[in-house]
Amino acid sequence: MGNEPIKNAVLVIPCSGIGKVHGLMSREATYLVTDELAPAQTDTLCLALLVKGDSEAVAAVRSHACITIDGCVKACAEKNVAMAGGRVAKAIQVAEAFKNHRGAKPGNATALTDDGWTITREIADSVACEAASLCASEEAIR
Ligand code: SF4
Repeated sequence: MGNEPIKNAVLVIPCSGIGKVHGLMSREATYLVTDELAPAQTDTLCLALLVKGDSEAVAAVRSHACITIDGCVKACAEKNVAMAGGRVAKAIQVAEAFKNHRGAKPGNATALTDDGWTITREIADSVACEAASLCASEEAIR
């Protein structure tokens, strides 16, 4: 988000882990979901807007189901959505996804390797599934 209006039911919000490969993976997974896997169900917004209390961003997380993707256990996206009064429907941590990929070399803060993209796509697939399920349940209660 920034200037784009939010059209879709689910907000996917990555942390802003600059300088860490896990932060890059959280952002790339978000773009895979919002641009390729579930563009009709999902949008994203800039976590920094929420952190500074932007009224549109705060209203957005309060009125949409949110899926957060955090690079590490500090869970900055999840915590800031919750602190803004938003509804965290699912909280994902990139580090968790490495449990099935022991020894993987994901790349660095600016570029992912094949290993990094494989894990990032797995995260994106699970987020897209969760978004579809959230959309289905929101439809069911309308
Ligand atoms: S969750 Fe971890 S990687 Fe992401 S912004 Fe916070 S400290 Fe950085």
